[in-house]
Amino acid sequence: EEKILQVNNLSTSFYTHLGEVQAVRGVSFHVNKGEAIGIVGESGSGKSVTSMSVMKLLQFPGKIKNGEVIFKGKDLVKFNKKDMLKIRGNEIAMIFQDPMTSLNPVYTIGNQIIEAITRHQKMSKSEAKKKAIKMLKLVGIPSPEKRINNYPHEFSGGMRQRAMIAIALSCEPDLLIADEPTTALDVTIQAQILEIMKELKNKINTSIILITHDLGVVADVCSRIVVMYGGLIMEEGSSKEIFYNPKHPYTVGLLKSIPKINVGVRKRLVPIDGTPPDLLKPPTGCPFAARCDHAMNICMSERPEFYEVSEGHRAMCWLLDPEAPPQELKTEA
Ligand code: SF4
Ligand code: MG
Repeated sequence: EEKILQVNNLSTSFYTHLGEVQAVRGVSFHVNKGEAIGIVGESGSGKSVTSMSVMKLLQFPGKIKNGEVIFKGKDLVKFNKKDMLKIRGNEIAMIFQDPMTSLNPVYTIGNQIIEAITRHQKMSKSEAKKKAIKMLKLVGIPSPEKRINNYPHEFSGGMRQRAMIAIALSCEPDLLIADEPTTALDVTIQAQILEIMKELKNKINTSIILITHDLGVVADVCSRIVVMYGGLIMEEGSSKEIFYNPKHPYTVGLLKSIPKINVGVRKRLVPIDGTPPDLLKPPTGCPFAARCDHAMNICMSERPEFYEVSEGHRAMCWLLDPEAPPQELKTEA
């Protein structure tokens, strides 16, 4: 399979006056062409910093310290600002949680899509307008010929997120990075937006990285899932493996905390007790040890390596060591 993105041993730190915050501490993963993967973890896990590193959009004092971001065969870490401008919005596009902050309030939705198109593609204004209408139609905005003249505040939250997707996909990027794209939306709209992303992935053959704290969101859209915690990957596998055969206690904790709707009686949510580690002084052992019900002595002192569960499924947990005492991971509360 052709890889569109290969991230190798990426480390990103924030050099603050308190010291070095090691937000991402050596992560490796890949995205195949036309594939959607999910990066899942609580806030502070390093998932957003990973995506900002891929886009080279880190804010000061953040810096890529180590590693490679191979996109279509070239290492973006070595790219300068000018080279990245050609890539961003064109070959790699991004959508964020709050479209109100990414959309410009003083321009119409139409003009913002047209601007995005003509910035990267040789197209006349009228051609770009036609394309803008087509894109709005594609993301399910009714009567786009009229809606194109609306300003962002005249759109509902869900419509604004659709417009953002239209802008992001108007240049037919090879890779779309969506960071919590549905978090601010209500459940019904959330489902519609995810459905649209799934459809567009198939239509335009864009690869997608979907970043979210909610494992429930990625189930339908993503074929593979990367679970992050404490700046590291804890587990990676096909969606099926992650949901039905999780091997890392943190993944199990995330599964238990998925809001369950449609089950008649609303099930109790079980949040994971405790807080993420301080990445100014990352723990020497497993980053999850302080919150893990299964923690053993070795977990406090030594970081586990990855154990291969099956092809494409790996987890960083001492429980998978052949010498570890057998333990049962319960996914039901
Ligand atoms: Fe828990 Fe130890 Fe596994 Fe970490 S390595 S998740 S502390 S059992
Ligand atoms: Mg985030």
